[in-house]
Amino acid sequence: MTNGDMRNGRCGACGGSEVCWGEYVAQAGLRRPGAGKFGARKPVFDAYICAACGNTQLHLRLDAKMSSFIRNKLNWVRSQQS
Ligand SMILES: [Zn+2]
Repeated sequence: MTNGDMRNGRCGACGGSEVCWGEYVAQAGLRRPGAGKFGARKPVFDAYICAACGNTQLHLRLDAKMSSFIRNKLNWVRSQQS
């Protein structure tokens, strides 16, 4: 079984093991939902894509500047207690 993190080589949707790794560069950038303009320029994501079903997981490459942008400019999703 998988914990959902495709970096471990297992698809979180179909459970297959044909997970391939690439880079995704977002040309427009990142912004808060509904914001008028983009803040971070060309963020680079590590993309993990299942060759069997197409399920894709993106992980943003972080450095201090990007982490600060994420924390200060994007909307937080509060963790839900269960
Ligand atoms: Zn899959």
